Amino acid sequence: MKAYSKNKYAPSRFTYYLLLLAFIGYTPVFANIPPKPFVVVIDAGHGGKDPGNRGNGYYEKKIALNIALELGKRLAREKNLKIIYTRKTDVFVDLIERANIANRADADLFVSIHCDAHNSQAYGAGTFVLGLHANQRNFEIAKKENSVIFFEDNYEENYAGFDPNNPESVIGLTLMQETYLDQSIAAADAIQKRFVRNLNRKNRTVKQAGFIVLKYTYMPSVLVETGFLTNRNEGAFLNSKKGQNDMAEAIASAIIDYKNTLAQSVVDAVQTTPNAAPKSTLSTAAVTKLEFSVQIAASQKSVGLESFNWKGLKGVFNEKQGKIYRYYYGKTPTYEDAQRLLKIAKSKGYPSAFLVAFENGKKITLEQALR
Ligand SMILES: [Zn+2]
Repeated sequence: MKAYSKNKYAPSRFTYYLLLLAFIGYTPVFANIPPKPFVVVIDAGHGGKDPGNRGNGYYEKKIALNIALELGKRLAREKNLKIIYTRKTDVFVDLIERANIANRADADLFVSIHCDAHNSQAYGAGTFVLGLHANQRNFEIAKKENSVIFFEDNYEENYAGFDPNNPESVIGLTLMQETYLDQSIAAADAIQKRFVRNLNRKNRTVKQAGFIVLKYTYMPSVLVETGFLTNRNEGAFLNSKKGQNDMAEAIASAIIDYKNTLAQSVVDAVQTTPNAAPKSTLSTAAVTKLEFSVQIAASQKSVGLESFNWKGLKGVFNEKQGKIYRYYYGKTPTYEDAQRLLKIAKSKGYPSAFLVAFENGKKITLEQALR
């Protein structure tokens, strides 16, 4: 009798252990999904056949690369941070390809490293974000950095007839960069703070100018002019191992500062945003109309909805929320169709496009829509 009862209960106990094992084994699968790393693209200016400026006989391309590699080494010590270089050796890379590398990596920050030059003994470090050149000096800096496209084989095609030497051939903000302007300025500010506080560099502040390399990225992007090779002292400093390490250290600390502030503001936003979903009641549930669309951009500027403004996409509409216009491509009641639209938007040049959902014309989260 005893033996029988043992046999009788053994399978269920075994099943219980199996379930327990499965449960223990299963939970950490969720817990261990690593968060998406913060991706930084480090772009050493110039390279190969393009030496950059030759102030005091130094090579901008070499100094920029040394600072870039040192910067990468320091950032590599950070947890949950991934580094991608546009070049790690003395090679020539098209400006547009530098931006493409960052776009393909879906990077969180693009940092281009350069050294300035002037026919005076001007000195100091400055950081740029994309925008209109506010004055002649900013235009001259952008012109010098942009003129590397003359080393490229297909520059007329790649940059749509842009002439770096003509102040009227201006690169304005693209819609994408405007979306990221606040973040670009925040990153640039962090870098300038470190230059001034940690290294006592002369502060040439955060400025805007039309740098091609910043125009084509779809993420917060800055261009750092670490100092003037043409200045006797600053040139020697930047050409020295110590100078390069110091600059790299300052930029690395600034990027980590920026990353941490960003993470904090995301936490704040999540904690302070009330549930966006309208409380569904029986009467509205009965007539719920669900639609999906693809968000392709957000901007403070109102942009015409014609397809030529949207890389040929037809059926773009917008919605104003506060000061921000959000731009959407297409509308469809089925999720499958929306995924097809998303693919089209990405292939047309909106790699950060994403799906959104509307319930009776009101925006809801995708999760709520799929439920
Ligand atoms: Zn340069």
